Amino acid sequence: AKAEARGAFRFFEPEMDARIQAKRLLERDLRDALAAGAFNVHYQPIYDLATERVCGFEALLRWFHPVRGPVSPAEFIPLAEEIGLIVPLGEWVLRRACEEASRWPADLKIAVNVSAVQFTSASLVTAVRETLRATGLSGHRLELEITESVLVGNPGATTAILHSLKGLGVRVSMDDFGTGYSSLSYLRSFPFDKIKIDQSFVRHLGEPDGTDFIVRAVIGLGGSLGMTVTAEGVETDAQLARLRAEGCDEVQGYLFSRPVPASDVAGVLERWNGT
Ligand code: C2E
Ligand code: CA
Ligand code: CA
Ligand code: CA
Repeated sequence: AKAEARGAFRFFEPEMDARIQAKRLLERDLRDALAAGAFNVHYQPIYDLATERVCGFEALLRWFHPVRGPVSPAEFIPLAEEIGLIVPLGEWVLRRACEEASRWPADLKIAVNVSAVQFTSASLVTAVRETLRATGLSGHRLELEITESVLVGNPGATTAILHSLKGLGVRVSMDDFGTGYSSLSYLRSFPFDKIKIDQSFVRHLGEPDGTDFIVRAVIGLGGSLGMTVTAEGVETDAQLARLRAEGCDEVQGYLFSRPVPASDVAGVLERWNGT
């Protein structure tokens, strides 16, 4: 067994080296990308089930690597957090998304993802205030999406930031709801406006594994607490029908549209809102 383990180690080592090497290269490219204008923002519509209209879009960051092609944000966001690039990158997305949204019909909202590192950075509230001023976007049209990981650290500081954002009229959503822990106490402690049910729940709707009951409970809970409930990752008519029957407020997913470049936003609105 010992020899086997050693063999396994020798086999594993060069592969590890290669992975660390690849990560270093990616880090270097990530630093260059912001300066080179290699990032872009795509927009995915959010559909309101009460009005039967698109009510806003979520901004999703895109990176087109010169050699590797498109790199998933799930891969490069953690890297950007690690190397201290997330704050400038996050502020860039915020600025770009608000600029874009300021040209849309005024009833449309824009949702921007904020990483835990960026959320607790000293500059977030200032950056949001400055961005609203510079783009002329009303704070009521901006939603910030944060995940439960933000709430683990310092509840006092987090509450203060949330209240400052609310002072600007900005709404705050809890993203990926149900995938972290202590969700229920967080809902009680922090003033969220919206819960986004993670797509891992939506995917299992209709299966006899209890998912439907959980989704029903979350929609009921959000409603009782005065929060909007949005379901993510809606891909099928069956999923949509269930969410509608349960009284979900908003839905988002490939069934309506994939995230699209800014130039296609008008086309999405034409298709769903007829405008
Ligand atoms: P998220 O915030 O939960 O965003 C939803 C993800 O689900 C997006 O992936 C979106 O393209 C994808 N999606 C939407 N509808 C469907 C569907 O019907 N089916 C499936 N299978 N997927 C769907 P994306 O764009 O690859 O982003 C992944 C994650 O990266 C995001 O998850 C978010 O956590 C992070 N991210 C993206 N942009 C930013 C950003 O500007 N800042 C920060 N901090 N994080 C970002
Ligand atoms: Ca999100
Ligand atoms: Ca999400
Ligand atoms: Ca997610």
